[in-house]
Order: sequence, then structure tokens, then C-alpha cells
Amino acid sequence: MANAYPGRPQSGAVSSADRSTMTGGAPVEIKKVGVIGAGQMGGGIAHVCALAGLDVVLADRDPGALAKALATIGKNMDRQVTRGKIAEGDKSAALARIKTAENLKSFGESDIVIEAATEDEQVKRAIFKDLCPELKPGAFIATNTSSISITRLASTTDRPGRFMGMHFMNPVPVMQLVELIRGIATEEPTVQAVRELTVKLGKQPVSAEDFPAFIVNRILLPMINEAVYTLYEGVGSVESIDTAMKLGANHPMGPLELADFIGLDTCLAIMQVLYDGLADSKYRPCPLLVKYVEAGWIGRKSGRGFYDYSGEKPIPTR
Ligand code: NAD
Repeated sequence: MANAYPGRPQSGAVSSADRSTMTGGAPVEIKKVGVIGAGQMGGGIAHVCALAGLDVVLADRDPGALAKALATIGKNMDRQVTRGKIAEGDKSAALARIKTAENLKSFGESDIVIEAATEDEQVKRAIFKDLCPELKPGAFIATNTSSISITRLASTTDRPGRFMGMHFMNPVPVMQLVELIRGIATEEPTVQAVRELTVKLGKQPVSAEDFPAFIVNRILLPMINEAVYTLYEGVGSVESIDTAMKLGANHPMGPLELADFIGLDTCLAIMQVLYDGLADSKYRPCPLLVKYVEAGWIGRKSGRGFYDYSGEKPIPTR
């Protein structure tokens, strides 16, 4: 997400002594990564893993999403080549490392599978149920959930000790932060291996406790929800709210523009997890946000949210 609030820097280094304790002596080195969900986050995660030299299997139940993800990854790597951040050869080698799949049967060799499907607990539970029998015994599972309890998700797998939260920010190739969240059963070698992977991807890990929405979204989403209330109550228009927060608070994107970028379905799901999980009325999702999601106006990915993206320039819808 555009407004990440990085926390205290943490050491990503893992000593060889630490590593040797991970699997009774054998060091864990993650070389093969599975990614489930080829939306904006899964595509971004596949992008950075492939550029870091890892083999990637990217799976989605929607073949259209897979084709779109590959096209977006190619386009985003082209931009990195143009800006001199990577060489043309890095791009072609990385793209050759990404294989796609329409089911969960291709993860038998994966050292870790990162789940980045829709922010819906039932969807994620069903994925883990189908995924576990396909995995090798030592494989790790990470979830990119923005808000759902890691402990609860871990309990639906056959390996809670090898399960944790790995919360990337959007857009993944650009944003530096990855929140690492351990569930109550997560074992230390899992944390070490996932932290080491995070650093290998060129990201800054920050540890967060397993409370609803962790750190970034616990702070960011109530602000976005409040911006929607501000619109709902007529305090300002879409344009004035975004301009006010960009120029008045020095935010790189206005909160409504950012909500469209995240996806209004994801924003609503996170607010609902905060509301249910913390039982405090201050997290009540704004009825206007609910209405937009019910209408299917879920932001950039559907072409309409607080802005209409059908033309050359986004046009405010209120
Ligand atoms: P998205 O809507 O862009 O993509 C979700 C993808 O999951 C879709 O392509 C969908 O087809 C796929 N999917 C759904 N059910 C599936 C299943 N059973 N098997 C395989 N694929 C399935 O969503 P997104 O923005 O990429 O978010 C994905 C995850 O990342 C969510 O948990 C979200 O909370 C989290 N996240 C999102 C952001 C953000 O800014 N959007 C940031 C950090 C984390």
C-alpha cells in the first residue's frame, strides 16, 4: 500500500549456527516458491521472487487472472529495465522462472507456498485444506492476509508450526516493507527462514503480533474508512478529500484514491475483521463503503470505485 509506516529496522541476518538448528542440522534454503492467487498481490510476489532467482509456480482458479498477471509482470519489468533498475537479461531469466497452474497440484516441490488469494477466511480455509496433501512434509506455508488471524488460519493446516503471516505491501515490486506475523504455534525456524527469504527479496521485515490487521492496516484502514465517512456525511467531495490529505498531510496518495488502489472489497473485508475481532464500534465499516462493494464498484481492478477509470484520466464519481 502506498502509505506504509515502516517500523523499527530489524536484523534479517540469520547465522549459520541458527540455520543449522532449523531442521535438525540441515539448513533451510528456500529456492522454490509457490504463490496462490494471481491478483495484484500474487502477481507482485511472483515478480519479486523470480527476480531474486527463485523458481515460482503461480496458481489461480481463474485462467484470465493468470494471463493478466503474466502480462502485468512483463510490463512492470519493462519499466524496471527502462529505469535502469534491472538488465534486459534479468527480465527474460526471471520470466522464464515463472510457471502457472490452474489448480493446487503443482506445489509438490515448493519449499514455501505463499497464499495471496481473496481476503475471505472461508476462501483461504478451503485453499489450505486442498493444498496441504500436495505439499512435501518440510514445506512452509505463508499467508499474505491483510487482517485475518494467523493462529486461526494455521489451525486449518496440517503444519501450524511451519505457518506464518508474510504481509507484503502494494505494489510489491516497489514497496520496501513486509510485516512478519507469527501465530501462537509458529516455530522459530519458520520465522528465521521466512525472515531470510524477505531479506533475499530485498525487503525490510518488521515483526507484528497476531492481532486483527497487524500494524499497517490497523492504522491505515480506519483512516481510509474515516475518509469514506467524510464523503458519506458530505464534509467534502472525493476530489477535495484526496487533495486535502495529499497537500495537508503530505500523503503521496489521497485516502479514496488509495482505497481504490487497494480494492474496496479488500478494504471492507479488513474493516469487518477489525470490527468483529476488536468488538469496538469505532471500526464500523462506513455504509457507503458497503454500498460500493455491493454495487461491484470495487476500485481500479473493476474500473470503477471512488473514481471512474474508463477514460484516460480517473474521474471522481461523487
Ligand atoms: P485480487 O482480488 O487482486 O486477487 C485475488 C486473486 O485470488 C484473484 O485472482 C482470484 O481469482 C484468486 N482466487 C480467489 N479464490 C481462489 C482460489 N480458491 N484458488 C486460487 N485463486 C483464488 O486481491 P489482492 O489485492 O491481490 O489481495 C490478495 C491478498 O493479499 C488478500 O488476502 C489481501 O488482503 C492481501 N493484500 C492486499 C493488498 C492490497 O493492497 N490489495 C496489500 C497487502 C495484502
